[in-house]
Formats: sequence, structure tokens, C-alpha cells
Amino acid sequence: MNRILVTEKIAAEGLNVLRQAGTVDVRLDLDKPTLLSVIGEYDALVVRSATKVTAEVIAAGERLRVIGRAGTGVDNIDVEAATRRGIIVVNAPASNNVAVAELTIGLLLGLARRIPQAHASVQSGRWARNDFIGWEVRGKTLGLVGLGRIGSEVARRARAMEMEVIAYDPVVSFDRAEQLGVALVTLDELVQRSDVISLHVPLIESTRNLFDRERIMQMKRGSYLINASRGGIVDEAALVEALNDGHLAGAALDVYAQEPPPADSPLIGHPKVITVPHIGASTAEAQLSAGTEMAEGVVTALTG
Ligand code: NAD
Repeated sequence: MNRILVTEKIAAEGLNVLRQAGTVDVRLDLDKPTLLSVIGEYDALVVRSATKVTAEVIAAGERLRVIGRAGTGVDNIDVEAATRRGIIVVNAPASNNVAVAELTIGLLLGLARRIPQAHASVQSGRWARNDFIGWEVRGKTLGLVGLGRIGSEVARRARAMEMEVIAYDPVVSFDRAEQLGVALVTLDELVQRSDVISLHVPLIESTRNLFDRERIMQMKRGSYLINASRGGIVDEAALVEALNDGHLAGAALDVYAQEPPPADSPLIGHPKVITVPHIGASTAEAQLSAGTEMAEGVVTALTG
């Protein structure tokens, strides 16, 4: 009988699918030493993004044949170490495209109209209509770094709001971009032309610190940055400097170099920054499809 360890909350429907392949233990409270001591008893490990499936965890998982990730990015899993041991890594790549794209559009409009700041102002008893003169997204240039699944969904929605959308993605074809109404440009051109830049790339060696001090300073004066991809892609200290000296007008972040960010992070409480707690994939629809899509892959890997 296969034994499956689930260390993070996934949809009940996903757990039911997993039960087709064996017994399922849901243990949401495992610290690293406990995970290391129990992982040897399991054939499959199922995580979301908080559990760090390091080479050490993989080495301790003597029976491990499959690792399931209920979601997209697999940067919390040492895929190379898993592959070396012949362990299959299964994720749910299509499950949260729309959820992340819709949050990105929400952050874009939040920046344009300073909705969180306006909300806080009314809640504090003020009625400061003149403090909240925003700008319309129509006619503005949105630069998408990464035009994969999520970037494409953001592009469609931004085009519907009559934005000009440009993108940098070395893999995407001109035909595909044209279908989406997006112009493919170089990263330099994107950075210089965009009124708002939104990041939709995976965190890999070539994207780590892609938005470093130099790149941020190449951005148009008064432009905005949205990051709902991964924290390590933006140099947070350089971002705060650019916001403080007026080079950037605002930023909206769903992801951080360290999650949660430290309480004394200059991003917390910054008047030009919108912060949300890594909720890109947190919709009922995305959780359901992430759980079931991943679970079906795990069952196939264990029984197929
Ligand atoms: P995807 O693989 O479909 O698309 C990523 C695109 O980035 C690809 O087209 C790839 O060619 C491109 N790319 C890779 N390196 C690049 C580079 N250096 N410059 C420009 N483009 C580059 O992935 P996706 O499903 O669209 O997801 C994108 C990222 O969003 C994920 O890797 C994940 O980190 C993040 N994500 C965040 C949340 C959240 O909760 N905020 C949820 C899901 C995914």
C-alpha cells in the first residue's frame, strides 16, 4: 500500500483523488527535523510552496517516488536532486493562471487609483477626495516580463482595458504574441517604454535579481512595478530607494525575498507600496484545480 504525506493544506477533492493511490496522512505541523525523520516511510510527498523539499529531505525519503506540488512554481523543490534519484516531480501548471492574472489586474488598478490608500484614509475618518487623483490605464503601456501562461492571461485582460501591451520573453513566438495583441520587444526597450512593468517569470538563475538597481533605474521616471511572480526577482532595497527618491511612483507586491517579510522591512507601511501576502493563487477555483490536477499526476505516477 502506498503511503502519501501531505504537509500543506490542499483541497479536499485533491485528497480524495490521492486516496485512490494509497493512504494519505495530512500533517500540517511538521518542522524540518520531524519531516526528515518521517519522510523515509512515504512513497509520495505533497506540498504547496511553504515546505522546502531540499536535497536533504529527498535523500532521507528512501521510498519516495513522487513529489506533488499543488500549484505552479517548483522553486521550493530541489528538482535536480529529485531527478537524480528518479523521483518524479508533478505540479499543476495551469491551475492558477487566471487567479494570478486577476490579482495582477487588481494590483494595477490599485496602483492607478491608490485604492488601498484611499480606503485607509476613509477608514481613518478623513474625506480627502483631492488627495486621490489617479490615472487611467487606458492608453498606458504595460510591459510584461514573461509571456507564459500567466503573462498571457494578464495581456488579454490589459488589452480589454485598452492598454498597449509589450512583452519580453525569449521563448514566445511573434505569432503567439500577435494573437494576444502584444508586441515583443527586448528587455531594454520594455524597461524604457513601460508605464507599468509586471513580472511573470519563474525564479531561476537567469531571473534572480533581474530587476536589480541598474535595471530599476533604467525604468521610466514615474513608472510602476508589479511583482506577483517570485520575490528573488526584484532587489527590494533598490526598489525602496527608487521609490524614496521619486524615480518610481509605486509598486505592488504579492511576493517577497523573505516570506513573510521581516517586520522592519522598509516595504511595510511604505506609502507608495501595495502589499498583499502571496495570495496570487488564493481563489477557491485555483485551489480546487491545483489540488485535483496535481493529485491526478501523483496517482498516475504511483500507479501508472
Ligand atoms: P510559464 O512557465 O507559463 O511562463 C513563464 C515565462 O517566462 C515563459 O514563457 C518563459 O519563456 C519566460 N521566461 C523565462 N525566463 C525569462 C527571462 N529571463 N526573461 C523573460 N522571460 C522569461 O509560467 P507561469 O505559469 O506563467 O508562471 C510564471 C511565474 O509566476 C511562476 O514561475 C511563479 O513563480 C509565479 N507564480 C506566482 C503565483 C503567486 O501566487 N503569486 C502563483 C503562480 C505562479
